[in-house]
Amino acid sequence: MKIVDKKDCCGCGACVNACPSHSLTMAEDEEGFLYPETDDSTCTECGLCGKCCPVLHAKADIPFAQDGYLARIKDLQIRKESTSGGVFTAIAQSVIRAGGIVYGAAYDQDFRVCHSAALTDQELYRFRGSKYVQSDTKETFREVKEYLRDGKLVCYSGTPCQIEGLKRYLKEEPAHLITVDFVCHGVPSPLIWRKYLEMQMEKYPDSHITDILFRNKGKFGYQYSVMTIKSGRKELYARGTETDPMLRAFFSDICDRPSCYACKFKKRYRMSDITIWDCFDVRKFQVPWDDHTGASQMLVHTDKGRTVFRSIEERVESVFIEPDRLTEDTWPMFESVKAKSVREDFFRDAASMCGFELFHKYYPQNLSVKMARCGRVICYKTGIYGFVRRMYHRYFKQRK
Ligand SMILES: Cc1cc2nc3c(=O)[nH]c(=O)nc-3n(C[C@H](O)[C@H](O)[C@H](O)COP(=O)(O)OP(=O)(O)OC[C@H]3O[C@@H](n4cnc5c(N)ncnc54)[C@H](O)[C@@H]3O)c2cc1C
Repeated sequence: MKIVDKKDCCGCGACVNACPSHSLTMAEDEEGFLYPETDDSTCTECGLCGKCCPVLHAKADIPFAQDGYLARIKDLQIRKESTSGGVFTAIAQSVIRAGGIVYGAAYDQDFRVCHSAALTDQELYRFRGSKYVQSDTKETFREVKEYLRDGKLVCYSGTPCQIEGLKRYLKEEPAHLITVDFVCHGVPSPLIWRKYLEMQMEKYPDSHITDILFRNKGKFGYQYSVMTIKSGRKELYARGTETDPMLRAFFSDICDRPSCYACKFKKRYRMSDITIWDCFDVRKFQVPWDDHTGASQMLVHTDKGRTVFRSIEERVESVFIEPDRLTEDTWPMFESVKAKSVREDFFRDAASMCGFELFHKYYPQNLSVKMARCGRVICYKTGIYGFVRRMYHRYFKQRK
């Protein structure tokens, strides 16, 4: 497994998990992304790594029957803790209640984002909320294979590339595996995330950070969800996409993985059982749901997905939406993000600058940022935020 062009590796780790001689390991490059490295002294050149690579064998976007829904979990507390409508937790709960195991992306003790397993309802809290950083799948593909071999029910959630990687690694379509992916904008660098953490930890040296929410809806609602840093019950920091440097970096596409700029998984007809994503223009489908608590859009691709949907029907509110209509404005489902022109400079500086210097150089808190924040808060407090946001997006959609 030699990666010549970094765009050809999505970092899912399927090859490392598949290697029978354990000759492959994932190693971080200078941008902080993981790539497979081969130990030539033990490699037997069996070729299994290439065979399970989802980028080399990406599934084509070939139409099949799908079901579309707008959905949200009835439990308001869980919905508020989730990024959109909390549908992922509803699915995960069904699996746990049937005696299964759920895999998702969570923070470790140092706030690195890694995949891990949950066996109880309580543990699902760790997976709630999008973390806009590439998650390290570690050895989870191998663990899934073992659980499936023992006849266990497993639900694996992740980016579309991670799901295709897992499926290629498993080779067959196991009856006991449920896969959930989402519409993915792109995954930022773990190195840039560390720089951000370093900057925030320096800012609050006497506080023990206990939780970080990329999209906290508790402060200004779903439409204006904010990056929030907590120390116990105390909120240390809360800033939106116009001010917070990590969110600004994410939404300006400056630090995504190279493969995200030529993503092979941008499609509607996927290998997962269910795809979920945000619904910001909820009024387009269901006016009464416009209550700032969030809603998910959902595409069900398989019969397994349909069975899962039936199992959550009691715990979610849902409305059937024709899939063509559901997906018509979802450009991140179909288009790769475009790299910001200063991406290379940004990573060059990241190698030598501390977090504060880096973010201050590329995302300064200047007057226009402060005015944008002020404008957003005023719109929110006067109750017109949702309306202004909708008009803004419709205007730019027409211009596109
Ligand atoms: C990197 C990233 C980019 C996204 N881009 C878009 C987008 O462009 N448009 C859009 O509509 N929606 C996007 N989403 C999806 C959206 O933010 C919500 O995750 C989705 O709507 C599900 O929300 P929920 O309320 O059902 O679940 P939540 O409770 O929010 O559950 C989050 C789920 O996402 C998984 N997850 C969280 N972070 C990661 C990660 N870093 N890697 C892999 N899995 C992760 C968890 O394991 C869990 O399964 C993105 C999510 C991520 C993580």
